[in-house]
Amino acid sequence: MLKIVVIGAGHGGLQAAKVLADRGYDVTVFERERKDKLSRDRWDTIEPAVFEDLNIPLPEGTFKDAACAFTAPFSNKPLIIDLPEEKRDWTVDRRLLAIQLADSAEKEGAKIYYETPVEKLIFDNTGVIGVIVAGEKIYTDLVIDASGVFSPFRRSLPKRFGITSDPEPDDVFYTWDAMFTETDGIDAPKDYNFLMHLKYNGEKCIAWCVPEFEDKYAAFIGKAGGLSDEDFDRLNGKLRNDYPWLGTKLIRGGDRAEIPIRYPLTKMVAQGYAAVGDSAFMTVPLLGVGVANSLRAGQMLADAIKDADSVSINTLWDYQVRYYNEIGSGSFFIEKLKRALLNSDNDLLLSFFEGGIISNEELKSLINGKITLISVRDLISRIKKAYEVKHLFGNLMRAALSGYSAMKAASSIPKKYDPLKIAGWKQKIDKIMEQK
Ligand SMILES: Cc1cc2nc3c(=O)[nH]c(=O)nc-3n(C[C@H](O)[C@H](O)[C@H](O)COP(=O)(O)OP(=O)(O)OC[C@H]3O[C@@H](n4cnc5c(N)ncnc54)[C@H](O)[C@@H]3O)c2cc1C
Repeated sequence: MLKIVVIGAGHGGLQAAKVLADRGYDVTVFERERKDKLSRDRWDTIEPAVFEDLNIPLPEGTFKDAACAFTAPFSNKPLIIDLPEEKRDWTVDRRLLAIQLADSAEKEGAKIYYETPVEKLIFDNTGVIGVIVAGEKIYTDLVIDASGVFSPFRRSLPKRFGITSDPEPDDVFYTWDAMFTETDGIDAPKDYNFLMHLKYNGEKCIAWCVPEFEDKYAAFIGKAGGLSDEDFDRLNGKLRNDYPWLGTKLIRGGDRAEIPIRYPLTKMVAQGYAAVGDSAFMTVPLLGVGVANSLRAGQMLADAIKDADSVSINTLWDYQVRYYNEIGSGSFFIEKLKRALLNSDNDLLLSFFEGGIISNEELKSLINGKITLISVRDLISRIKKAYEVKHLFGNLMRAALSGYSAMKAASSIPKKYDPLKIAGWKQKIDKIMEQK
């Protein structure tokens, strides 16, 4: 019987554990935290289809997301995503979801050890062959690394595996989020909805203050590259100034975390090793929306193993190919747009928003990592038109073109495991992604 160890009880790792245990494999999950501290104490927005597709019941208290809007620095014209109710995301208690997934995995026979960190991977000259936990060596056929964006296990892999060790500084959003009560005597405007500020305060930052429950507000600050105490004081000060109804009584959260905001690993598997979720950078680059992608990846990995009844490198590569075909390739296009947006001057962003270049539906599809709704050629021609009018869109146009090439290159992933072909493919993508 195949023996599989999952490091980290995040959403993707747990979904894989559940499906693999259900198939009858010997699955063990090691999680550093206590069960009641799983994931984070916050409400996430998650695409509805993933619950239906993977047959995951909605956790108690789940509700439909409100319409949301984006705005550029200094713009008074938000781009509103006001989708019909059935197309809106679910707002989900993410801790409850993780606990529910853990319970289902255990019900299917997976063993979960909480407060039990994995210390190291064990290698031989073929690949990963086990883990060390509490000083004890545990040998296994496969290690699923679901330990998050700064996985020390990914970093410890030998260079010859060709797996990227660390994200670049701008590839990670350093976040703070919290929920507060309303300030006594200051009511929020009636038409106030989910307004997300891109490049808040003109910095590489996204921020919002949104009503989440009656008289309660969720505040978020995320800054690419790092959020020092000085950064936090400055941005939090501005948020409180912009949203005076944001009170000071903390209801939940108030802690820091990191979200990868880059394209997925170009190699996420090696003999005996597969990365899932944030450890493979599976979030959507611009926004860091990642729960659905992690869940789907966990399912894809488990399906590939079940179908082949094997954890050979060929099987693991099939998982990566499926992830790229169904989700990952689109992220390369968004990654290029992300870089252009983060590095663009604020006037350019203002014009992009005020020039009506992108529709609400298109923005939503981009955010979900699906660019099928929008023709890239069409987008480029719109940007070009605006460029002629406003002389401001040169770098966005270059980003769109480069993003298109990156996406095309990513989707030409070798269909079968072939180290030479994979090295050639990876080199081609790396070259496009290295271009600033
Ligand atoms: C503030 C914030 C807001 C977000 N909002 C959204 C949103 O609205 N919608 C959305 O889809 N996504 C959102 N995301 C992204 C989303 O949280 C992740 O993409 C998703 O949860 C997948 O994460 P993961 O399971 O791969 O990793 P994680 O959730 O980071 O889980 C990793 C797990 O590994 C454990 N671990 C680490 N090291 C070890 C070790 N040595 N041994 C054992 N266990 C270990 C950790 O304790 C943790 O439980 C947000 C992220 C943050 C930080």
